[in-house]
Amino acid sequence: MKRKLFIGGEWVEGSSYRELYAPHSGEVIAQVPHADRTAVEQAIAAAEAAAATMRRLPAHQRAALLAAIAEQIAARSEEAARLIALEAGKPIRTARAEVARTIQTYRFAAEEAKRIGGETLPLDAAPGGEGRVAYTVREPLGVVAAITPFNFPLNLVAHKVGPALAAGNTVVLKPASQTPLSAFLLAEIAAQVGLPAGALNVVTGSGSVIGEVLVTDPRVKAITFTGSPQVGIEIRHRAGLKRVTLELGSNSAVIIDRDVNLAEVVPRCVFGAFSYSGQVCISVQRIYAVSEIYEPFVEAFLAETGKLRGGDPLAEETDYAAMIHPQETERALEWIREAEQRGARVLCGGAVEGRMLLPTVLTDVPADARVSCQEVFGPVVLINKVDSVAEAIRQVNNSSYGLQAGIYTTQIATALDAAEQLHVGGVMINDIPTFRVDHMPYGGVKQSGFGREGLKYAIEELSELKLVVFKR
Ligand code: NDP
Repeated sequence: MKRKLFIGGEWVEGSSYRELYAPHSGEVIAQVPHADRTAVEQAIAAAEAAAATMRRLPAHQRAALLAAIAEQIAARSEEAARLIALEAGKPIRTARAEVARTIQTYRFAAEEAKRIGGETLPLDAAPGGEGRVAYTVREPLGVVAAITPFNFPLNLVAHKVGPALAAGNTVVLKPASQTPLSAFLLAEIAAQVGLPAGALNVVTGSGSVIGEVLVTDPRVKAITFTGSPQVGIEIRHRAGLKRVTLELGSNSAVIIDRDVNLAEVVPRCVFGAFSYSGQVCISVQRIYAVSEIYEPFVEAFLAETGKLRGGDPLAEETDYAAMIHPQETERALEWIREAEQRGARVLCGGAVEGRMLLPTVLTDVPADARVSCQEVFGPVVLINKVDSVAEAIRQVNNSSYGLQAGIYTTQIATALDAAEQLHVGGVMINDIPTFRVDHMPYGGVKQSGFGREGLKYAIEELSELKLVVFKR
């Protein structure tokens, strides 16, 4: 089906089109417009024109619009899940979970829209500050550019569009080239619920072409980006004084202390490693198990992994499918080979069946092998033995990334030490790093980026604090 760009509330033909292929079947599923510079500039102009309307919209109306978006997605949830399964190759049960989270995200955005307040300040605490009433307010920034990745095409868009609109901004959304269809669905819903024309614009096409315009156009006041560190760092370098939020990758780790309940811990770790074939920014990539529990942990982990079923993402029983692109499968395989040559053992997987990379478990992986120190973003996990939790914490921190980390332990002191010493944006005690609910503050340190999402926190990133001082 031929799709159109969504600019200023209208569906607009692209100047050129590309075929979109389903990652799993390789079939053509749509013709997607490739926006050129002119189209992106039109989208920015439409967003700028709508900025005054959005700024004036009372909080209760912004909240009502966001709630209506949530309800429309709920009404079309199975259609949305099937779109995600098709364009992203995400197993349908996982896609349904994403849709359910997306509904939550817009509902949280609607609630937070009503809570954007400031504070009163005692200026008389400073000599010369007497006789004044001072307070802060949060104002919208204006046009926000949202650039999103392929792996959660509906919910990660919601994490940008939701807070941006809640704060009274307008948005130009550039979804990942592989996953434009769910963004078009959102545009359809936005028009249907009566979002002012131009408040949300969707431009699809080349990341570098569209990104260049969005990042350099002075009418765009903020860039909120989720994606790979390479692109994020480039955006940051070119964005000048624009606000920038970067949600980037990681090689997330979990620590397994002795005495934990393997029946509970292992299935959770397998889920964290292989859900959506590991194409999740907080996927479990590194597991450090203390020597007392290492052997039984590995054995149970392999048994649990063996239960996973690969196949068509639209089939109910499927746990994993093809990765997003055959090139990505090749890259992951090459990294596995490299680790193997350097002494790692491949306990399962490490091979391709059809278009699917099988869930792969490695042990004895050197810390500087790419499967350990870079982001695999595929169905590959390493389990290494450590002498102590202290050693495990050192290993976890020996990374250029720091999004989230997890530790399973029965010892309160060990848990508190880990919470203090792990250098990441979020520490999960007795859970995997792959835990996220949508209102919690979420973001990384080091090359995992900066700024926080989670509605309340994203609203802070996407609004300006203004001080008012009133002399009596
Ligand atoms: P990419 O960085 O390849 O792409 C992300 C977005 O950036 C896409 O829309 C892409 O467009 C666009 N883009 C590409 N080049 C440029 C450019 N020069 N300027 C501006 N925009 C550009 O990431 P993926 O889609 O492959 O997503 C995977 C990555 O996302 C992983 O590293 C993962 O860890 C990270 N991620 C981080 C999350 C977090 O919250 N921290 C959550 C989810 C994913 P196009 O598709 O057209 O190339």
